[in-house]
Amino acid sequence: MNLILLSAEDFVSAHRVVLADRRRDHILSVHRASQGDRLRVGLINGALGSGLVINADAARVELEVQLDQQPPAPLPVTLLLALPRPKMLKRILQTVTAMGVKQLYLLNSYRVDKSFWSSPFLQPEKITEQLLLGLEQARDSILPEVHLRPRFKPFVEDELPALSGHTTKLVAHPGGAHPCPRELLAPTTLAVGPEGGFIDYEIARLEECGFTPVTLGSRILRVETAVPVLLSRLSP
Ligand code: SAM
Repeated sequence: MNLILLSAEDFVSAHRVVLADRRRDHILSVHRASQGDRLRVGLINGALGSGLVINADAARVELEVQLDQQPPAPLPVTLLLALPRPKMLKRILQTVTAMGVKQLYLLNSYRVDKSFWSSPFLQPEKITEQLLLGLEQARDSILPEVHLRPRFKPFVEDELPALSGHTTKLVAHPGGAHPCPRELLAPTTLAVGPEGGFIDYEIARLEECGFTPVTLGSRILRVETAVPVLLSRLSP
């Protein structure tokens, strides 16, 4: 936890927060903070700043907070990700959040196992749990928006054209004719397939919508590896 994330409910007055959950445990056992120490804090969907420890005991930690810094710039990439298996989803949610993605669409695809859509990890509070871990890791405070799209065709036909608009549109595909570009400055919409890959029909629909299939080379990477490789390659 490189940042203590605060929510409005933590405030007991304009500049004071009281923490009595896992953040208290972390402050006491990992930071080993005591009265007078300063910690990095951030308001969820707000500014970053510092928290001066006023009191710290086994029951609660009280901080005087000053929120006067901007969170880091977002990554200008909208990610369309074929829904991965639940265990992998948890890790990917943390990773993409830490890397600065702010718009994530979890998408159905022919090779996505139907059972994945009924996973308890898709409950909004479970998703938020992973996003918060990613924000804490990267010292960011702005939660990504996660959208579930359990039907591929209506999403691609009805929603994707407006959503991807004038962005650079890429679909990561090992068989893609073009190498994945580097350090794209323009806003980008990036589609990443499921473990078995997108089927030809899906690649064709995405191409019709203006997406270019791009490759990272002949090595086939797991989704959880391909996603950060692609994002860091596209990062300005
Ligand atoms: N056999 C599948 C195929 O050929 O499409 C492999 C799928 S790969 C495990 C899962 C997803 O990660 C792919 O759909 C693609 O989006 C991305 N990916 C993995 N390795 C890649 C590479 N070398 N180039 C481009 N995308 C890759």
